Amino acid sequence: PRDRARKPEWLKREIPGGENYTRIKSQLRGLKIATVCEEARCPNIGECWGGGEGQTATATIMVMGDTCTRGCRFCAVKTSKAPPPLDPDEPVNTAEAVATWGVDYIVLTSVDRDDLPDQGSYHIAETVRQLKLKNPSLLVEALVPDFQGDLECVERVAKSGLNVFAHNLETVERLQKHVRDRRAGWEQSLGVLAHAKKAGAHLTKTSLMLGLGEQPEDIQAALEALRANDVDVVTFGQYMRPSRKHMAVAEYVTPEGFAHWQKVAEGLGFRYVASGPMVRSSYRAGEFYLKAMID
Ligand code: SF4
Ligand code: SF4
Repeated sequence: PRDRARKPEWLKREIPGGENYTRIKSQLRGLKIATVCEEARCPNIGECWGGGEGQTATATIMVMGDTCTRGCRFCAVKTSKAPPPLDPDEPVNTAEAVATWGVDYIVLTSVDRDDLPDQGSYHIAETVRQLKLKNPSLLVEALVPDFQGDLECVERVAKSGLNVFAHNLETVERLQKHVRDRRAGWEQSLGVLAHAKKAGAHLTKTSLMLGLGEQPEDIQAALEALRANDVDVVTFGQYMRPSRKHMAVAEYVTPEGFAHWQKVAEGLGFRYVASGPMVRSSYRAGEFYLKAMID
C-alpha cells in the first residue's frame, strides 16, 4: 500500500556537524566498530555525536551480527532462521575498540537471536561487563530483545553493570500484532521491563513509534501501563517506512503532536522524555541521562 500521507517539511533536515562530531568521526576511522548511527544514516548524528563544548557524545553500536531471527513489519534488518554463530571475541574486541574512541555514552543494541539457547543474553551481558571494565567512565545503555520473556535472560543483562536497561515496546498494545513479529507482544515486553527493574536495573527505558495508526487513547493507556510497571524513560519518534515492502505510514504526527505527548508523559512522572519527529530511542541519550541524574 502507498503511504497515506506525504512526507512533511519537518522531516527534511540538514545534518549538522560540529567540532565534537568531526573529532569522533575521525577517531572512529580504523577502529572496528560498526555504528548504527552511520549504517542507518541517522539524521541525528550531528546532535548525538556532539554539537557543542562539553556535550555528552552518544553513539549506538550493534552486536551479535546483522541478521535477525525475527521479521517485524517496520524493520529493515535482514532476517534468517539460522543466522551465523556469535563471535566469542566480540565482547572484548568491542570494549577495546570503544576504549580508544572518545564517546561518553554507548547504546549497545542487537538483533534478536531466538536460535540461541540463552537468546544471546550472556553475550550482551559480557559485552556490557567488558565495556565497563575497559572504560570505567563510559555510560552504557543496553537496548535488548524480549528474550521470549525468559526472566533469567532479563536478569543476566539487568545485573551486568549497565546504566540503563532499554527494551522497546515499539507501538501501543492494540497494534502489536500488526507491527511486531508474532513472537513479540505487549504483555511479554512489559514483563521484561518490569522484571529488569526488580532485578536491579537502575533505569528502565522504552520507545514508541507514532504514525502507525494509534489513537490518543491508545497512547495514554500505554503511558499509564508503563508507569504502572515502573518504567522510567520513554521516547516517541515518527515511524518512517524503510521501503515499499514495509508497512505504510498511517500518519505524519506534527511537531506539536510530539510536544503534546512529551508533556503528558512528563506529567505522568517519567524521569525523562524525548519526543519529536526525528527522535530515535537513542537520541541524545547520554545528555538526557545525565540531566535526569542531576534533577
Ligand atoms: Fe546514533 Fe541513535 Fe543518535 Fe541516531 S539517534 S545518531 S542512531 S545515537
Ligand atoms: Fe528488527 Fe528488532 Fe524486529 Fe529483529 S526484532 S526484525 S531487529 S525490530
